[in-house]
Amino acid sequence: MANKLTIVDHPLVQHKLSLMRNEATSTAVFRQLLREISFLLGYEVLRDLPLTTTQINTPVGPMDAPILEGKKLAFVSILRAGNGLLDGMLELVPSARVGHVGLYRDPETLIAVEYYLKLPDQIGDRPTVLVDPMLATANSAIAAATRVKEQGAKDIRFVCLLAAPEGVKAFSSSHPDVPIFTASLDSHLNEHGYIVPGLGDAGDRMYGTK
Ligand code: URA
Repeated sequence: MANKLTIVDHPLVQHKLSLMRNEATSTAVFRQLLREISFLLGYEVLRDLPLTTTQINTPVGPMDAPILEGKKLAFVSILRAGNGLLDGMLELVPSARVGHVGLYRDPETLIAVEYYLKLPDQIGDRPTVLVDPMLATANSAIAAATRVKEQGAKDIRFVCLLAAPEGVKAFSSSHPDVPIFTASLDSHLNEHGYIVPGLGDAGDRMYGTK
């Protein structure tokens, strides 16, 4: 099965993304925009969650009301930049369980090195949303998806803010069953593994580090 790539082209998402890309945007505003945009991306990523019904009484009468079926969702953040996307998603689904995968990119090889892993229990029974703002080489995303699969996750979606064609291709060949949601498919990666035109280093822009 080929990956489904969804580009969330809602005007609000695109407008906020342009503000985030602008190098003149401050850390505080960048973080706020990321929170807002992740709320909107989350809405799209979770569009097909299964529903069941429960009997309730409104002030006017009884009804079979739709509610989410099954176990609570799992959001899994790829540290550290994933946490920016996670905040907005948790506002959308406050009862979700949260996992973290700590990976850093070796600056020479760009290979993902794991330093932390903590996942919700029974992840195999939970729709699982992997979050990382930048799908660049996809090394981190591929490693994180592999780890959550090893723990039993089956229904996995990957959400990012920006994707490079190289990252989509690499991720799709390693995890063809995991759909990708992004706000933009950018042009290419530069020689340092940065997305062009991109927005720079997402973690640095979010946390004001360098
Ligand atoms: N990670 C980032 O933060 N930015 C990029 O452009 C690529 C990877």
